[in-house]
Amino acid sequence: KNMATKLNLPGPKAQEILKRDAATISPSYPRDYPFVMDHGKGTEVWDVDGNRFLDFAAGIAVCATGHSHPDVVKAIQQQAEKFIHISSDFYHEKWAQLGEKLNEIAPFQEDALCFMTNSGSEAVEAAIKLARYHTRRSRFIGFYGGFHGRTMGALAFTASKAIQRRHFYPMMTGVVHVPFPNPYRPRLSFDPTKADYGDAVIQYIEDFIFQYECPPEDVAAFLLEPIQGEGGYVVPPDSFFPRLRALCDKFGILLIVDEVQSGMGRTGKWWAVQHWNVEPDMVCAAKGIASGMPLGALIARKSMMDWPAGAHGNTYGGNPISCAASLETIRLIDESFMANAAKMGEYTLEALAEMAARHPSMGNVRGKGLMIGVEFVRNKETKERGKDIRDHTVHQAFEHGLLLLGCGRNTVRITPPLNVSKAEIDEGLEIFEEAVTEAERRLLGG
Ligand code: PMP
Repeated sequence: KNMATKLNLPGPKAQEILKRDAATISPSYPRDYPFVMDHGKGTEVWDVDGNRFLDFAAGIAVCATGHSHPDVVKAIQQQAEKFIHISSDFYHEKWAQLGEKLNEIAPFQEDALCFMTNSGSEAVEAAIKLARYHTRRSRFIGFYGGFHGRTMGALAFTASKAIQRRHFYPMMTGVVHVPFPNPYRPRLSFDPTKADYGDAVIQYIEDFIFQYECPPEDVAAFLLEPIQGEGGYVVPPDSFFPRLRALCDKFGILLIVDEVQSGMGRTGKWWAVQHWNVEPDMVCAAKGIASGMPLGALIARKSMMDWPAGAHGNTYGGNPISCAASLETIRLIDESFMANAAKMGEYTLEALAEMAARHPSMGNVRGKGLMIGVEFVRNKETKERGKDIRDHTVHQAFEHGLLLLGCGRNTVRITPPLNVSKAEIDEGLEIFEEAVTEAERRLLGG
């Protein structure tokens, strides 16, 4: 096999822009390597120096239909020519149309009402407020490793990296965290002959949290990702969501799923929670929902969105260009991209599992559809975290034309656009394996 040629990065034009960026843009953005975008088409992107890359990050699981899909571009152009803004004090058709679509795909039988936002964090904020409003209860349960955004309400749930919280207290009060059922790294002891790790987490909530610290009748909602994203692409055991739903029903607690990263067809179903046949009470969506135009949505059961005019609002809710992009995005996902995500996801998972057997550092491969995580270790037996191997792999991949993003402490996420082709998957995986090989040679020896 001929190894993809090593690019000389960053190129001269990129270097110039990096310098200007450093002079004026907040240094808080977590950038791992210097990709400076010029343009993109589908899964391919080009930097300002003319280098070509495959984008296996899809922005950050946002470009569901690939970069600048012509149908989405056309919808944006047409809407921009008609009108760009009318405030949420008024009405327009695409907003209502998007509400109808989201109602159609909402993962519960009951009709849905939607609150549109500009981002995932704001969808989470809306969910927190509505849960308190509807239940008149004040407390919540969140999960370690969860990521829900960086605004003060969402941040109170976010617990995937300590730096996201350092020096930011006090934030919203009332959130208790419990371990997420990560089957690869269980934190709670349990008897595997009697229960699986999903049961163990539920039992911990019932026998510990509810008994010692947080009476269930004070809890408005559980808020969690069906598959953790920023926390490391963690898939819970199958028993977990059905049991969590039963626990919610027992105590009148709402189940809010944050599908900002896992939703909109990425896992091969509209919503990841549907893999476990569980109906949540509210869904937070964003990222893939409008192919990159800023849009988020809180989708709630109609009976629960019972707040009156004036209780919650925003200037840009239902932005017409974002709505137009979203309607086109949903049409494309529905037509064929979601089926492609399921098919390509299965193919990629299998290929990565085979690859993992050849590589001592690929400790765990997991995911659903095109939401796939590869966790790197220094040793498969001890599971010692291989953060350095992960980081080196991501850099090597970049230098050979593949954009990847890390997540968690030592995991790489594989999240190409939902319409990625098999040839592109093959090309990307080949670069990935070369990168892993190089990282192992350098950091594991041998
Ligand atoms: N929830 C989840 C699950 C996310 O992955 C993210 C973003 N990574 C957010 C919420 C926050 O979304 P945004 O950055 O659009 O505010």
